Amino acid sequence: MPITPLMPVYPRCGVRPVRGEGVYLYGERGEQYLDFAAGIAVNALGHGHPHLVKAIAEQAATLMHVSNLYGSPQGEALAQRIIDVSFADTVFFTNSGVEAIECAIKTARRYHYANGNPQRTKLITFKNAFHGRSLGAISATDQAKMRDGFEPLLPGFDYVAFNDLEGALAAIDGETAGFLVETVQGEGGMTAGTPEFITGLRKACDEHGLLLILDEIQCGYGRTGKMWAYEHYGIEPDIMTVAKGIGAGFPLGACLATEEAAKGMVIGTHGSTYGGNPLAMAAGQAVLDVMLEPDFLPNVERMGERLRQAFEQMIPNHDHLFEEIRGKGLMLGIKMKDTAVSRDFVAHLRDNHGLLTVAAGENVFRVLPPLVIDESHIAECVERLSEGARTFAGPSDD
Ligand SMILES: *Cc1c(COP(=O)(O)O)cnc(C)c1O
Repeated sequence: MPITPLMPVYPRCGVRPVRGEGVYLYGERGEQYLDFAAGIAVNALGHGHPHLVKAIAEQAATLMHVSNLYGSPQGEALAQRIIDVSFADTVFFTNSGVEAIECAIKTARRYHYANGNPQRTKLITFKNAFHGRSLGAISATDQAKMRDGFEPLLPGFDYVAFNDLEGALAAIDGETAGFLVETVQGEGGMTAGTPEFITGLRKACDEHGLLLILDEIQCGYGRTGKMWAYEHYGIEPDIMTVAKGIGAGFPLGACLATEEAAKGMVIGTHGSTYGGNPLAMAAGQAVLDVMLEPDFLPNVERMGERLRQAFEQMIPNHDHLFEEIRGKGLMLGIKMKDTAVSRDFVAHLRDNHGLLTVAAGENVFRVLPPLVIDESHIAECVERLSEGARTFAGPSDD
């Protein structure tokens, strides 16, 4: 077999979407799917949202791209809007999540360098973390499936169990720059940081002069029912990465920082050809127009509660399959029993019941609908999921 035109790094399934409308995707033969995967938490406004589509089309016709060597009224406006609703004082725009991670790692190292502590280069990161696929980001996780064969990786990361505050504190030494942590782990298994853990990391940073870097690429931007997941914990980070929902399908990411944390990021230290171009900024503005409507986030919270309640009612009917519900808001995961395999179940739901979900680590499957769902979509999801649970024959089913 010759190699495929697309480098064969993904286990691509038989769904071949060609069109999307709201919460539904349509394949090449017109088959319909209820999309509770949303491009892995990207399509926050669903598919074909008229306001987003119009903003992109109009900006494309006006001015698509200019270099970051020029002034950017579009970038300044979006950065200011994000600053106004977050902890941050400054924003670096990227085209993806992993580039925001790279910027965060660089910002943290430069902070200590600028402070006269150039030996403070190490970040404490967490088991099962997912920060993306650059060499820096795969160095920041202990997951072998992402690292094997790519060594030597970037030095300067210590790995501690997620939600193990004692372990994290014990890992601090004279070379530690800070912590890099997902407020709610996504790919690793949809585990939310415990309040003691997240607030404990914040406290340790304050005591030791370290930086708290939150990776909210998946859990930020309204996904958990609040604009930022850190709001559930009553703390603020020093640096934060966002992406996915920020462009709702347009490739966009951002690294946010306080003025203090960004003190080393002076002229010439970082850059991106495309990052923050006018087209991307128009997409980002359109997303915020919708998300900052007073009813948007409360509706995410409400729908998240409804979906969780519906799952809680469903689980006892299929307790040979499902173990527990994880996550926050519309970032939910269902952990399956050892006898069932989440990857096979995701395939079964997709191929036999027209429901799209995403597998995650720890035998969990992720339910990540567009943030614009209503009760009818929840009812439809639960119906298809229950039916799927009833007809699931086990791991060899598909
Ligand atoms: C998706 C994701 C990334 C990587 O984002 P890309 O846009 O794929 O580079 C990093 N961190 C988390 C938590 C993510 O969910």
